[in-house]
Amino acid sequence: MRHFLYNLSYKYQAFMQGRYGIDELNIFLLVASVVSLLLARTGVIFFFVFQILAWVLLIIALVRTYSRNISKRYEEKMKFLKLRNRFMAWYKIKRDAWQNRKTHKYFRCKKCKASIRVPKHVGKIEVTCPKCRYKFFKKV
Ligand SMILES: [Zn+2]
Repeated sequence: MRHFLYNLSYKYQAFMQGRYGIDELNIFLLVASVVSLLLARTGVIFFFVFQILAWVLLIIALVRTYSRNISKRYEEKMKFLKLRNRFMAWYKIKRDAWQNRKTHKYFRCKKCKASIRVPKHVGKIEVTCPKCRYKFFKKV
């Protein structure tokens, strides 16, 4: 039995040689696939759409895992990570704005769109953008 398992893992390693394998994007696709499948099982409207989506995501993840075009898969992963990081930064600002809604006001710089936080109820103030140093007046 042990020999059999050893043989199997050896064969799998040999099979995976030169293939892409698992990355963050594949894990995301697998999780999204499971979530779609669970949504489909709850019987919500269009549940068949979630069922199809679950299969499509699963197939994409499998194709990516066993792909031999490693540079292309790496490119996809980097695009995904960039999008994910942008989403997480956006989410963090929204979450902080909600948590500090009583004491601070959040808005974007008119020039560079950076997020700026100022204390509330202080009247008209001059704001300097921490990113681009652009100065403007704001009533808070
Ligand atoms: Zn700015």
